[in-house]
Amino acid sequence: MVGDQTIAPAIGRMAVTLAAAGSAVGLAAPSLAGQEPADLIIANALIHTADPGAPLAEAMAVSDGVIVAIGDVGEVDRYRGPGTTVLDLEGRAVVPGLIDAHAHVMNLGLFLRTVDLIGTRGIEEIAARVREAAAGRPAGEWIMGRGWDQNDWAVQEFPTSATLDSAASDHPVWLTRVDGHAGWANRRAMEAAGITAATPDPEGGRIVRDEAGNATGVFIDNAEGLVEASIPLPGPEELAARLAAAQERMVSVGLTGVHDMGTEAAEVELFRQWAAAGRLVPRIASYLDGSDTTLMVALESFAGGAADAGDRFRVRGVKFYADGALGSRGAALLAPYTDDPGNDGLLVTSPDTLQAEVVRTLGLGLQPAIHAIGDRGNRIALDAIAAARETAATNGARAVAATSADAPADRGGVVPRIEHAQVVALEDIARFAEQNVIASMQPTHATSDMYWAEDRVGPERIRGAYAWRKMLDAGVPLACGSDFPVENPNPFHGLYAAVTRQDQEGWPAGGWRPEERLAREEALACFTRWAADAAGMRGEVGTLAVGARADFLVLDQDIMEVPADSIWRTRVLRTVIDGETVYEAEPAGGSEPE
Ligand SMILES: [Zn+2]
Repeated sequence: MVGDQTIAPAIGRMAVTLAAAGSAVGLAAPSLAGQEPADLIIANALIHTADPGAPLAEAMAVSDGVIVAIGDVGEVDRYRGPGTTVLDLEGRAVVPGLIDAHAHVMNLGLFLRTVDLIGTRGIEEIAARVREAAAGRPAGEWIMGRGWDQNDWAVQEFPTSATLDSAASDHPVWLTRVDGHAGWANRRAMEAAGITAATPDPEGGRIVRDEAGNATGVFIDNAEGLVEASIPLPGPEELAARLAAAQERMVSVGLTGVHDMGTEAAEVELFRQWAAAGRLVPRIASYLDGSDTTLMVALESFAGGAADAGDRFRVRGVKFYADGALGSRGAALLAPYTDDPGNDGLLVTSPDTLQAEVVRTLGLGLQPAIHAIGDRGNRIALDAIAAARETAATNGARAVAATSADAPADRGGVVPRIEHAQVVALEDIARFAEQNVIASMQPTHATSDMYWAEDRVGPERIRGAYAWRKMLDAGVPLACGSDFPVENPNPFHGLYAAVTRQDQEGWPAGGWRPEERLAREEALACFTRWAADAAGMRGEVGTLAVGARADFLVLDQDIMEVPADSIWRTRVLRTVIDGETVYEAEPAGGSEPE
């Protein structure tokens, strides 16, 4: 039911709303001075442009999806004609459409299509959520959920399949426990998996059984695989439903663009089809999955924008991995973990292989985007980029030749990126600037990890961790993102984390390592102009200026003026891409789930 039709009718409906709002304002007599009248005028607004040359404006005119005038009423009103829609914002704040510089679109779709059971208080509540999910899906389709925990229930016992049979008898249901170490199936799921009383417990796993030996619905550890093996790979309809859900969520929280990290071959096809059909709503700048052999053997075919589809889907680079993650102690460190002295993490890719991949990518005019979390991972990534540039220089400097008409970032050429740049040796921070490498960072990772990050790396190395202020002060090009669905996709949570370095309860007072905080203007730039730069889209998106695409948000509060602790609560009232309203909040007055 969700399907891929969700967004398009919504756009149509909202366009009508926009037109109605315009006519309600009442149009003055045309006062054109030679200009073509604009399609749309935003009037009486508090516009934060993210354009350092002209940071504030009160009005903006848009034609054919492009900003044709921005400034004071006098400058913009000249574009008013009899056919112009005028939107009086009554002083509300407007910002450029926000761009998430590191995220996973289809994983967000999967996340949204998976029933969220975190915090549920009993089997009745879970049954209700499963029943709701089943109502929207054809019989036989698997319903997946995650996050139940019987320790939160009044009766702290493992549940049985009967609860789920009553909620969804026509669908196989599979719900994983909060820690992933147990799964709960209904009868349809167990039948699909061929589970009988005769099925033995696998090595390292246990099937919970009744006195007669029949499985009662819970499968522990390796026994989970008995059921999971029968879950089909997602078909085209499910993938379409995931993309629809993901883009609907993105525009509702104010994201008009995203840098999709590690796009797989099937996802490239889906994004291209949707973009070509006019169904892709946010702009996706794709960084291909460097471990996807289908894509890597054909990498040449992505050079020069050859595989792009309009301006909603473009392939910008390739995602590689230097190391693992800090939480699981897989991030590669120069010295062992403070809380695990025998362990210094692991390299996912050998330095030689990484360097060869960077050489090839830059040689095609594509951006390498290297995941690096630990200080050793980051150093290896910087070394690979430096060595690749030398190789390229001796090969006739192909690597720095821009391959598209887009304005290159400040210092020219295709700019490599390091994704996360999470724990960096202090002496390596300047190398990002010297080598013109973008540090693509996630403010909410800092506020999720701050409770334990120093345990991992100790008091000295923590100074170079999540150190976006040191990066900025050293002249490093920054871009901000969320890594959704690892973190919440709402970019206002990221803006808040960047500015306060506090969690949403305000802990710790004054902020965690507050010397790394960004000013609000910097945080906004990091999610707009700098993020656009990081994908070679400067001037096209990320700022509200003449000639830029009309991607912007109307907000319920002015994020530059409200108390910092309320930035994360900002609600998007309207999201506009190419001058078209793609999301509009329900009118105020209803009960808001928050
Ligand atoms: Zn990621």
